[in-house]
Amino acid sequence: MSLSAPTTAAAAAAAAVAKTSVAEALSAVKTKIQASAERLGRPAPRLVAVSKTKPVSMLMEAFEAGQRHFGENYVQELVEKAPNMPRYVKWHFIGNLQSNKVKHIVSIPNLYMVESVHSVKIANTLNRLLPDTREEKLRVMVQVNTSGEESKSGVEPSGCLELVEHVMANCTKLELVGLMTIGRLGDVSPECFQLLAKCRDDVMEKHATSFQDGLELSMGMSGDFELAMAHGSTNVRVGSTIFGARSYPAKAAPAPPASADASAVPTPPAEEQQQKEQESTNSK
Ligand SMILES: *Cc1c(COP(=O)(O)O)cnc(C)c1O
Repeated sequence: MSLSAPTTAAAAAAAAVAKTSVAEALSAVKTKIQASAERLGRPAPRLVAVSKTKPVSMLMEAFEAGQRHFGENYVQELVEKAPNMPRYVKWHFIGNLQSNKVKHIVSIPNLYMVESVHSVKIANTLNRLLPDTREEKLRVMVQVNTSGEESKSGVEPSGCLELVEHVMANCTKLELVGLMTIGRLGDVSPECFQLLAKCRDDVMEKHATSFQDGLELSMGMSGDFELAMAHGSTNVRVGSTIFGARSYPAKAAPAPPASADASAVPTPPAEEQQQKEQESTNSK
């Protein structure tokens, strides 16, 4: 690092970098994905830009650079952002979904996929509340808890097939397209990814004819998307590498007013946030 005072030119350059940083970071991620895909001899996975906690202005930078798939974790945030972004955006809901929140997201016309279906109840609620005016089925993925951590959302691997079959048999407004997992935080071993692939294989073994194009695997985030690709990911969810580290309010909010829905608002202390946001904080 240079210790000299910044020149005007340097300051201008820094400002230019800051201004184009989302587009540049996005481009760098896409280049890495492309390179890995070529090495693996596979098609590149879909890139979902995970934009939770980031302002619409940053999402628009990515949109203008060609990004179309965006992922959000919090119902309230998705509901606020969706009308403020172009209709061409393909929204993915990737957070822990509670059935009492489903009604808020189903009316988003360009909700493209819910990656985090983790129970029969959520599947049924989505299926029941999706408006008849929707032009296409809602793509869903079954979220599998591959790390065995109690705090993580998702069905046990042993319950995956059953939930998949429930959706196939009973949820006519949903299209089961794949399986999703988060994996163990900070773990760079491929165990969780292999387990998700095994779950996919189990489903395919029984239902190959229902999934002529195969089943997708949504796995891989900023720290491990290349590893996930090596294990067959078709959908990577990358946030902080594109939009920068997430910052949260310095203080957790005090007790919310009775009418507010605290679980939809990201307010835990920053140091706990990375962990919390990927966990199911609601066991019901
Ligand atoms: C936040 C989040 C991501 C993106 O994480 P980064 O490490 O910022 O890339 C992906 N998937 C889920 C489910 C998340 O909650």
